Amino acid sequence: MPTPVVDMDLCIGCGSCSELCPEVFELRDEKAYVISNKCDTCDCDEAMNTCPTEAIKME
Ligand code: SF4
Repeated sequence: MPTPVVDMDLCIGCGSCSELCPEVFELRDEKAYVISNKCDTCDCDEAMNTCPTEAIKME
Protein backbone atom coordinates (compact mmCIF):
# COMPACT_ATOMS: atom_id res chain seq x y z
CA MET A 1 0.00 0.00 0.00
CA PRO A 2 1.46 3.42 -0.92
CA THR A 3 2.37 5.62 2.00
CA PRO A 4 2.00 9.39 1.94
CA VAL A 5 5.17 11.32 2.67
CA VAL A 6 5.34 15.03 3.46
CA ASP A 7 8.31 17.10 2.34
CA MET A 8 8.84 19.29 5.40
CA ASP A 9 10.76 21.88 3.42
CA LEU A 10 7.73 22.42 1.19
CA CYS A 11 4.94 22.15 3.80
CA ILE A 12 3.63 25.56 4.85
CA GLY A 13 1.23 24.20 7.47
CA CYS A 14 -1.97 25.25 5.73
CA GLY A 15 -3.91 22.36 7.28
CA SER A 16 -5.74 21.24 4.13
CA CYS A 17 -4.43 17.70 4.28
CA SER A 18 -5.31 17.23 7.95
CA GLU A 19 -8.81 18.57 7.30
CA LEU A 20 -9.35 16.22 4.36
CA CYS A 21 -7.66 13.15 5.86
CA PRO A 22 -7.46 13.64 9.64
CA GLU A 23 -6.79 9.93 10.16
CA VAL A 24 -3.61 10.21 8.09
CA PHE A 25 -2.24 13.72 8.59
CA GLU A 26 -1.77 15.60 11.84
CA LEU A 27 -0.68 19.21 12.06
CA ARG A 28 1.99 19.87 14.69
CA ASP A 29 3.99 23.07 15.00
CA GLU A 30 2.67 24.17 11.60
CA LYS A 31 3.92 21.08 9.80
CA ALA A 32 1.92 18.08 8.63
CA TYR A 33 2.97 14.68 9.96
CA VAL A 34 1.85 11.34 8.59
CA ILE A 35 0.37 9.37 11.47
CA SER A 36 -1.11 6.49 9.46
CA ASN A 37 -1.15 5.27 5.87
CA LYS A 38 -4.74 4.17 6.13
CA CYS A 39 -7.02 6.52 4.22
CA ASP A 40 -10.44 4.96 3.80
CA THR A 41 -12.05 7.84 1.96
CA CYS A 42 -9.80 9.04 -0.89
CA ASP A 43 -6.47 7.16 -0.72
CA CYS A 44 -5.10 10.64 0.05
CA ASP A 45 -5.44 11.62 -3.60
CA GLU A 46 -7.54 14.60 -2.63
CA ALA A 47 -5.10 15.74 0.04
CA MET A 48 -2.18 15.32 -2.34
CA ASN A 49 -3.93 17.26 -5.10
CA THR A 50 -5.13 20.00 -2.76
CA CYS A 51 -1.76 20.68 -1.15
CA PRO A 52 -0.77 24.17 -2.36
CA THR A 53 2.94 23.42 -2.39
CA GLU A 54 2.78 19.84 -3.71
CA ALA A 55 4.50 18.69 -0.53
CA ILE A 56 2.68 15.33 -0.40
CA LYS A 57 4.00 12.39 -2.39
CA MET A 58 2.97 8.75 -2.36
CA GLU A 59 5.83 6.31 -1.93
S1 SF4 B 1 -1.71 20.44 2.54
FE1 SF4 B 1 0.51 20.52 2.08
S2 SF4 B 1 1.22 22.51 2.83
FE2 SF4 B 1 -0.80 22.13 3.75
S3 SF4 B 1 -0.32 21.21 5.74
FE3 SF4 B 1 -0.64 19.52 4.28
S4 SF4 B 1 1.43 19.01 3.49
FE4 SF4 B 1 1.53 21.03 4.48
